[in-house]
Amino acid sequence: MSGSGRVFVVAGPSGAGKDTLIKEVLKDLDAHLSVSATTRKPRSGEVDGRDYRFLSDEEFDRLVATGQFLEHKEVFGRRYGTLRSEVEEVTGSGRDVILEIDVQGALDVKSTIPDATLVFIMPPSLEELEARLRGREADDEREIITRTGIAPEEIEVGKREFDEIIVNDDVSKAAGELARIMGR
Ligand code: ADP
Ligand code: 5GP
Repeated sequence: MSGSGRVFVVAGPSGAGKDTLIKEVLKDLDAHLSVSATTRKPRSGEVDGRDYRFLSDEEFDRLVATGQFLEHKEVFGRRYGTLRSEVEEVTGSGRDVILEIDVQGALDVKSTIPDATLVFIMPPSLEELEARLRGREADDEREIITRTGIAPEEIEVGKREFDEIIVNDDVSKAAGELARIMGR
């Protein structure tokens, strides 16, 4: 890969606050937030091309077959993937990129791009994680059970494999830590 843009992968249990912290950091820091492709349905307020590229299974298969993903995974029964174009073209132009993806996808990125920095966003507790998922009002009960159920396993991987761990108890404190990690 040419250019000097760096790759930061932000992962952690659903509801830990990845999106909140990244949006906070991007108020003051210039980086490209990679737009993933997914086969899950848009939530209310989500915009195709901005939040995700919302694809059918067939469209997703086509991108897999033509080698357009840097990594792709099935997460909570839906498919998600990072497009090479979202990373390679941007870092090639010297701009940093943030990937907000699941822990297994993060490990794949690390093996392809060893210089990537893996940042794990840790909830203060599993109880607080569940409360945040409920408070977000984005997922139904079954989805919340699936997402909280997998969190302990994700936390184990995060502690073992990630370069940095940020406990998201307070948004401005945690965003400050992320900004420090990403600062030049
Ligand atoms: P993720 O992207 O990891 O799934 P979100 O950023 O969507 O998580 O956050 C999940 C919910 O928790 C949102 O409603 C968000 O406003 C809230 N939240 C995020 N960080 C905190 C925090 N430090 N304290 C309290 N609530 C938070
Ligand atoms: P959500 O449905 O809440 O937007 O995302 C569900 C999970 O999928 C989150 O853990 C999110 O980080 C992960 N995810 C989003 N995009 C990608 C991607 O491109 N690749 C992988 N591996 N995971 C992703």
